[in-house]
Amino acid sequence: MTTDQGEDLGFDTISLHGGYTPDETTGSRAVPIYQTTSYVFDDADHAARLFALEEAGNIYTRIGNPTHAVFEKRVAALEGGEAGLATSSGMAAIHLTIMTLLEAGDEIVASKYIYGGTYNLLSTTLPKYGIETKFIDPDELESWEEAISEDTKLFFLESPGNPLLNIVDIEGVAEIAHANDIPVVVDNTFNTPYLSQPLKLGADIVVHSATKYIGGHGSSIGGIIVGSEDFIFKARTEGYRDIGPALSPVNSWLFIQGLETLSLRMERHSENAQQVAEWLEEHPKVEWICYPGLERHVQHELAKKQQKNFGGMITFGIQGGFEAGKKLINNVELCSLLANVGDTRTLIIHPASTTHEQLEAEEQEEAGITEDLIRISVGLENVEDIIADLKQAMEKV
Ligand SMILES: *Cc1c(COP(=O)(O)O)cnc(C)c1O
Repeated sequence: MTTDQGEDLGFDTISLHGGYTPDETTGSRAVPIYQTTSYVFDDADHAARLFALEEAGNIYTRIGNPTHAVFEKRVAALEGGEAGLATSSGMAAIHLTIMTLLEAGDEIVASKYIYGGTYNLLSTTLPKYGIETKFIDPDELESWEEAISEDTKLFFLESPGNPLLNIVDIEGVAEIAHANDIPVVVDNTFNTPYLSQPLKLGADIVVHSATKYIGGHGSSIGGIIVGSEDFIFKARTEGYRDIGPALSPVNSWLFIQGLETLSLRMERHSENAQQVAEWLEEHPKVEWICYPGLERHVQHELAKKQQKNFGGMITFGIQGGFEAGKKLINNVELCSLLANVGDTRTLIIHPASTTHEQLEAEEQEEAGITEDLIRISVGLENVEDIIADLKQAMEKV
């Protein structure tokens, strides 16, 4: 089964079979882990053809690996893209995408509601190499248009965004971008291709932190880029080869295991999160709540149109601000206090007293991190147990 045929098959079938037919030598039903650095050439001419990129084939695992190839083809097929490229982390996927498309003097227009690590890459690291970013409010289509200059070479967004789970009108943004010959890159980590497929809405490239829902088990760091054959070829033979953000074959294999249950997990994450959100919405100590599945969410209708379900992420504000937030996370028992999302287990964090503690109040505000903000990545436990844990912790606040 190839990616091309994969297009005709259902999502779950591709999750299980995409990019792999049982290995010809061994008949192995499961995808083998090719834990090797290099591959034997037939002869000197064969080697020369591979190096000259005249013939496709395996050379060295920093450039490509058969286990990665299955992971790449499978995610590409799930996203409805032509090709994929697996990387050592989500940040590596984002960095490599930008390095492939831009050079010094170019500009990015980016949503200001994005992952903290990406914000830092765009605001602090890339300017050192001559690439500047204008951060805008992604929910106002005019602000994308207004931010364009002759140097703009890329639009970047997340939907749902961080931390308020705003939903961006990807079709609307893509229309503006394409009228100006600008490619649109969407970080689809929170949704996964199960909940939304940005390429089908007009985006040009999708990136993921596979560390999150794709892997799902909280065991491996990795990323993936999906785009056109030409773009992925360029990324692989330039930045991927020269900078070296390749991942371990074992991690690709673990992500493939994750993909096999992606739709089941995303449905359950969404179901559980909906119930937790509805419970929080009624709680007297909850000041505000953001979950795209609630009718009160400002872009609930857009979320319904653009997504299959509403996902596992919830943010809310707790009465009593900073101290109350800290107290809540110190009193949860089942929920894990840590800086990750998309695990099978429920995760909780109070950014103001943890991940964003070192930022000035102004910087926190700019990033949308209020003192009372709590983020929950709702897991796959029985939802009654998740709610019971939050209930007992809320009582201690
Ligand atoms: C975690 C995350 C990243 C970064 O991915 P890593 O695998 O940690 O490098 C990028 N975008 C989003 C939305 C994330 O949640």
